[in-house]
Amino acid sequence: MAASRQVATFRLPPLPTIGEIIKLFKLRAVKQLSQNFLLDLRLSDKIVRNSGNLKDAHVCEVGPGPGAITRSILNAGVAELLLVEKDPRFIPGLQMLSDAAPGKVRIVHGDILTYKLEKAFPQHLKKKWGDDPPNIHIIGNLPFSVSTPLIIKWLENISERNGPFSYGRIPMTLTFQKEVGERLTASTGTRQRSRLSIMAQYLCTVHNCFTIPGQAFVPKPEVDVTIVHFTPLVKPKIEQPFKLIEKVVQSVFQFRRKYCHQGVRILFPEAERLKKAEQMLMLADVDPTLRPTQLSVFHFKNLCDVYRKMCDEDPKLFAYNYRDELKQKKNRNKSNLERTEDNSL
Ligand code: SAM
Repeated sequence: MAASRQVATFRLPPLPTIGEIIKLFKLRAVKQLSQNFLLDLRLSDKIVRNSGNLKDAHVCEVGPGPGAITRSILNAGVAELLLVEKDPRFIPGLQMLSDAAPGKVRIVHGDILTYKLEKAFPQHLKKKWGDDPPNIHIIGNLPFSVSTPLIIKWLENISERNGPFSYGRIPMTLTFQKEVGERLTASTGTRQRSRLSIMAQYLCTVHNCFTIPGQAFVPKPEVDVTIVHFTPLVKPKIEQPFKLIEKVVQSVFQFRRKYCHQGVRILFPEAERLKKAEQMLMLADVDPTLRPTQLSVFHFKNLCDVYRKMCDEDPKLFAYNYRDELKQKKNRNKSNLERTEDNSL
């Protein structure tokens, strides 16, 4: 029994350290690309442990770089590892890891923001949305300028069950700038509560795993790094289209220090703003004097449900955009002023 367990356990053979790989392939970090590398394999092991049980799993690692997290994933006994890396300088080092784990690694030189993950894994791994998550994981330490737009894109994919989530409720373990990690996981009434908290928490169980101090990376970033784990919920806490929820949440948080009625108002054209905002808050049973940070996901569910009904009754309402109205007003005022100046000449 012990012998068969030993045979089944995969360990990478001895390899040059990550520091040596960086020297060997001249992988100087490019500051403009926010490249900060993890050299300490105990930390990459900890990230991988927090992603769950990877035994026989199919994993996609985004932005593997010189490969610290990649090594930890391979040592966790995965069936297959797909690596998506944008910078071609890292490909030879990753190829070396692939040679050390024959048949397990697929390397894609590409951009994760455009790479199509809907066909990336074997079809037989697909699970129904209501089932347990499939044995597929997404893991990555990406630049912060990529991880935030990417999580918004993936949250939209979760709401529509497409992209990678056509395989089911794939869990994700991703790094963020500490403040963004805190926002993603912030509970009602906390200072960090924001648009991202609602958008992530209505769709996923979101867990703030741990924070790594900036000095653990080479070169050291300006900020600390937080690891966040997401598991898509079987039933989202708000059942409306993503774009509608995004619009309501964005408007409410537009004035995050003011009462929430200020943000609700800008969902409506000026002429009917006060009346409609009051009506929406009353029907949603939301106290207009709560601050946006004090609103629970349930409050947002009620607001979105009522706004949806109002949009169904007035088909022009959803297309209304407060900023456009402001711009038009400014332009009108400017041309009126110019006309007055012309007349006075
Ligand atoms: N994961 C490695 C680690 O922890 O040491 C590298 C981290 S470094 C912060 C980010 C990595 O993501 C770099 O290798 C970079 O080239 C890669 N990257 C940046 N943007 C990317 C994108 N859009 N698609 C795929 N990889 C990307």
